[in-house]
Amino acid sequence: MTHDTDILIVGAGPVGLMSAYLAHLSGLSTIIIDKSDGPLKVGRADALNARTLQLLELAGLFDGLYPLGRPCDTSTVFADGKVQSRQSSWWKNLEGCFHRHFLMLGQSHIENQLDQKLAELNNPVLRHRTATDIRVDDHGCTTRLSSGDTIRSRYVIGADGSRSFIRETFNIGFHIQRPEITWAVVDGNILTDYPKAPEIVVFQSETSDVAWIPREGDIDRFYIRMDKKSFTMPEVLKKINRAMQPYSLKFLRVDWLSQFSVKESVAERFSYKNKVFLAGDACHIHSVNGGQGLNTGLADAFNLIWKLKIDKEHPGTIDLSSYEAERKPVAESVIKVSGDLVRTTKFAETNSHAKQYLKLVEAYSGNITGMGITYPGEGLIGHRLHDMTIKTSTGQKRLYSLLDYQSHSLISFGDKATPPNLPKGTKVIRINANDGPTSYSTENQTYPNQQLLIRPDGYIAQTWND
Ligand SMILES: Cc1cc2nc3c(=O)[nH]c(=O)nc-3n(C[C@H](O)[C@H](O)[C@H](O)COP(=O)(O)OP(=O)(O)OC[C@H]3O[C@@H](n4cnc5c(N)ncnc54)[C@H](O)[C@@H]3O)c2cc1C
Repeated sequence: MTHDTDILIVGAGPVGLMSAYLAHLSGLSTIIIDKSDGPLKVGRADALNARTLQLLELAGLFDGLYPLGRPCDTSTVFADGKVQSRQSSWWKNLEGCFHRHFLMLGQSHIENQLDQKLAELNNPVLRHRTATDIRVDDHGCTTRLSSGDTIRSRYVIGADGSRSFIRETFNIGFHIQRPEITWAVVDGNILTDYPKAPEIVVFQSETSDVAWIPREGDIDRFYIRMDKKSFTMPEVLKKINRAMQPYSLKFLRVDWLSQFSVKESVAERFSYKNKVFLAGDACHIHSVNGGQGLNTGLADAFNLIWKLKIDKEHPGTIDLSSYEAERKPVAESVIKVSGDLVRTTKFAETNSHAKQYLKLVEAYSGNITGMGITYPGEGLIGHRLHDMTIKTSTGQKRLYSLLDYQSHSLISFGDKATPPNLPKGTKVIRINANDGPTSYSTENQTYPNQQLLIRPDGYIAQTWND
């Protein structure tokens, strides 16, 4: 049978699911397929950064997810039997946002919530299906599925992970570096005499590096650098206990034990003929250091979907190659950041690597918090919109709560005429204007007397000064 849709999404990991949900918000029809049984139950990514929290708010997903996680803004170095430093300046100094921390929350929560929302929208993930063939013509894409169905779509998104079939189908290069660094990852419920706090602790000893990541609920996570690719839980536990001497730890329950060997790559292209797009791990993979994989993939989805909406509704008015132009440099910077971080765990001088690690975290905090990601442009263009407190006639709100992913927004400070030629459907938000009871006000002076056109993904597209 042949089905028609605006977007076929291959892969229902967090990036495919988010793409489908944002497409729904944007009024685009989607078919989303995945080869698996259902969303992730345990493991994988463990942290949402501050920018992702703002993006979730734009999509109306923040309130459902935030209460499930554990805020964490502190990184601690433990060596020679005691805490050597405790830092959070790169979170505390963030400007223009209200959640200055990681939200520690397992990837399974994000997947499950989005999977459920799509089901409630009568657009569930079609599971146990793969794409077997894709053809692109001037008008769109024709994809055959393993179920025997054929999908005719305007666009295809390959959100099918690091071994992407879509990437391979279009011969898009993906040259993988392997720095020969292997980690064990354990999630579970622990018992320890170490004073437990919601902070990331990097334990340094001469033979092992261990990072303790606080998590939601009764879970804690440990990353342990291993000397070989296969290992047992007792070997992992021995390394943890050696690194945290004189304290000790045991697992009361192990939810997930996994191994990963670091691989790094950015796809040569992120799209094919402006009809097929790669997002998430399909176009960038790297070590988990800095917690950027999931966050970068979600930001890909936020960058792409509103552009597809404009391309569908007003063909020729948006340059779809801007997706790659904006996201590929971000992916390259993520590889650099996570690569430099992970290499200190192996190659740094003896007994200084944990401190060096944190110095790098501080230096690269723009990536790690997500707040330093910018796109090309003059002046404020390409920068994220700062959040701020806005007074209303009945109380106060945050500026981001007035935005949404469906449309561009014009934020106009002061009494100004609306500029001409705004994108269709632009929502106008007047602040400090004398136009009656609906007006908002603020004392925040980040954008004095300016007018800002904000993209659906919360970046500044255009500015008008006095
Ligand atoms: C141990 C570990 C820890 C991590 N920690 C972090 C962290 O702290 N922070 C962070 O940001 N990131 C972290 N990551 C990375 C994060 O998990 C990934 O970046 C994220 O899962 C990428 O999402 P995705 O949707 O692009 O791909 P995936 O999650 O890989 O999803 C791809 C989906 O596509 C499906 N699929 C694949 N091929 C096909 C096909 N041919 N047809 C149909 N379906 C297909 C798969 O079944 C899967 O559901 C971690 C990863 C690991 C392994």
